[in-house]
Amino acid sequence: MTGWAGIYPKFTNYNNNTTTTMINIVLFGKPGAGKGTQAEFLKGKYNLTHISTGDIFRYNLKNDTALGKEARSYMDNGELVPDALTIKMLQDEVEKNMDTKGFLFDGFPRTTAQADALDVFLKSKNWEVTATIALEADDEVLVKRLLERGKTSGRPDDQDEDKIRIRYQEYNEKTAPLIEYYSKQDKFYAVDGIGEISEITGRLSSIIDTL
Ligand code: ADP
Repeated sequence: MTGWAGIYPKFTNYNNNTTTTMINIVLFGKPGAGKGTQAEFLKGKYNLTHISTGDIFRYNLKNDTALGKEARSYMDNGELVPDALTIKMLQDEVEKNMDTKGFLFDGFPRTTAQADALDVFLKSKNWEVTATIALEADDEVLVKRLLERGKTSGRPDDQDEDKIRIRYQEYNEKTAPLIEYYSKQDKFYAVDGIGEISEITGRLSSIIDTL
């Protein structure tokens, strides 16, 4: 480290002379990796605002809003919703929670365009992504988990193996490049996503505690 920056604590907001310790975590992983389950525990433990783009889309679908109408066909087919729509929705959600201590992004970003938009948007608030943490698991284990979840969740995208496979294809093509994207920024971490739920929360916490 050169210059003066190194002697200051990370994430200090210099521009308005206040010291904010914002922690913004991106939970990363394939469909079914357990992001939503872990987010439920982490948001309470670290006092973070949980934003799940999947949950927000499903809420809009259920209530048949204009956004829901636009997103439905993509979601039902297992495809990603177009970036412009998703980014706008995410930004609106962040704007509603400006007094937070930090965000836990779950299911966003899922494309490099979304990651770029998130960086620019957070920067405009003097914030940044602190870390991206991936839950890793084998595809075949995950497909079984999703089909099991589909029996009770009512989610059409979890009930059909072809649609599940499309989601993995979407992940491999569009989302996997984010591993390199965040690695280049020295912000990428990964934990084993197989094990007891509490054990996995422990693995995630041990990373968050070092940030
Ligand atoms: P999972 O991780 O189990 O696939 P989610 O609940 O995160 O499910 O998302 C469900 C669906 O919502 C996705 O298949 C996609 O259609 C849409 N979606 C959620 N997040 C995004 C995103 N960031 N970009 C585009 N589409 C998204």
